[in-house]
Amino acid sequence: MTEQAPGKVNMDKLVSLCKRRGYIFPSSEIYGGLGACYDYGPLGVELKNNVKACWWKAVVQERDDMVGLDASILMHPQTWVASGHVGGFADSLVDCKECRKRWRADDVKDGKCPDCGGELTEPRMFNLMFKTFVGAVEDEAGTVYLRPETAQGIFVNFQNVLNSTRRKLPFGIAQIGKAFRNEITTGNFIFRTREFEQMEIEYFVKPGSDEELFQYWVGERFDWYVSLGIKKENLRLHQHSKDELAHYAKECYDIEYLFPIGWSEIEGIANRTDFDLRQHTSYSGKDLSYYDEESKEHIIPYVIEPSAGVDRSVLAFLADAYDEEHVNDELRVVLRLHPALAPIKVAILPLSRNEKLLPLSQEIYTDLRRYWMVQYDNAQSIGRRYRRQDEIGTPLCVTIDFDSLEDNAVTIRERDSMRQIRVPVKELKSTLDAKLNGEPFEVLPPGGKKWLGFED
Ligand code: ATP
Repeated sequence: MTEQAPGKVNMDKLVSLCKRRGYIFPSSEIYGGLGACYDYGPLGVELKNNVKACWWKAVVQERDDMVGLDASILMHPQTWVASGHVGGFADSLVDCKECRKRWRADDVKDGKCPDCGGELTEPRMFNLMFKTFVGAVEDEAGTVYLRPETAQGIFVNFQNVLNSTRRKLPFGIAQIGKAFRNEITTGNFIFRTREFEQMEIEYFVKPGSDEELFQYWVGERFDWYVSLGIKKENLRLHQHSKDELAHYAKECYDIEYLFPIGWSEIEGIANRTDFDLRQHTSYSGKDLSYYDEESKEHIIPYVIEPSAGVDRSVLAFLADAYDEEHVNDELRVVLRLHPALAPIKVAILPLSRNEKLLPLSQEIYTDLRRYWMVQYDNAQSIGRRYRRQDEIGTPLCVTIDFDSLEDNAVTIRERDSMRQIRVPVKELKSTLDAKLNGEPFEVLPPGGKKWLGFED
């Protein structure tokens, strides 16, 4: 996190927009908040759902070698012994004897508190897993953990999925779900939180094909961010050197994004070899092998793991979409979100509150909301309403004016260019559909026309 992002957005601007417009709020704010926990507001929940839906579509729905899973957050405690988390999922931390602030030993350079310069304690290990208890007695026997990653839910279900779906290698299992880590250093908004969501794939392959399939997944996952509008120059790959690699990993790449805080990991892709399935075989005593019809042998598959953070992706999509420009001496803030991610796809804006406009406007609104998240807004001037929709990232606005009552046509205004076209109401749904799916704005529907409005 060394380089400052060159774009127009800094973290303060993003945090403030997210709060003001209802994307993201600090958790339990009325009680002063809870460290590194955030709540997604009315627009945030839509954006987050869209990110997850786009991921699921790309990695499950549109592929024939992937299936989904939704495992529980609480798992048998032996899971975390086998995975190595009980023994090793720890950070080394130090405390400041003066101001009592706690630091990751990695983040402290000269043995002094970075905040007040005070003396520090000796480093000690701190396990990042949250503990809780099942049952009525709070004792060692009932101790369970909130999962620190979703991956283990996939490994322990490997045989269940194999037996119920009769998959052949290579195939993968995808899962989206919450994970919890009692992080020591937090801050930077939703970049590092204590409760977050992951989108993880465990892709099982024959040993020997792992290196090629690892490279394949690195490419697939990089392209996914680009396909949803992230600028290529803001993404890069970081290959882990030998001493950065986790002990079980043969190879690992991070996909990094140029966040407002600098280049940082958004997703990690690791070749985990057969480590996890072997560990669970040995701790559970259950056979987690795969019978290979070709070689007539039982093998333990290797695993390629693309592991992405939902919240970090949301932050990257927001940061990349944020733009400011001057229009008629006024600052226009616009979130250029990909239409598939935008929380509201279409805003319905009657030109004024005049009652004559109400029936047609409402008719259009109730029709379109059957297909998309649509917002109806008739407060304030049309210019201010456009600005508001720009700032929340709505790709298209539909304006109903007095001419609409005569010619049965309405105006569609595009967020990015602010250009407008006029289309017959009967062509509205199909036109919006086409534009939201990438048809150039200039392409006119039957009976449509370019309309030079006050925005041009
Ligand atoms: P970091 O080094 O940033 O702590 P990590 O390498 O520990 O991340 P992984 O265990 O590989 O992360 O988890 C996979 C993904 O989960 C990360 O790329 C990130 O997007 C997300 N993630 C991990 N920890 C957090 C967190 N505390 N808050 C938000 N997202 C997280």
